[in-house]
Amino acid sequence: MAVVSCPECGANVEIPGDAIVGEIIVCPECGVELEVTGLDPAAVTLAAEVEEDWGE
Ligand SMILES: [Zn+2]
Repeated sequence: MAVVSCPECGANVEIPGDAIVGEIIVCPECGVELEVTGLDPAAVTLAAEVEEDWGE
């Protein structure tokens, strides 16, 4: 398990040992969705908020 800082609020966010790159984890402090971009070293980035395109 690794710990990274939330890019949104700076809180420590635990990445499960079985996490995979591309997995979405949620910051326990601010609730933002973070995408795991690396495991060694552990890194996350803000996940794209637009997952569903409702179009017009
Ligand atoms: Zn946060």
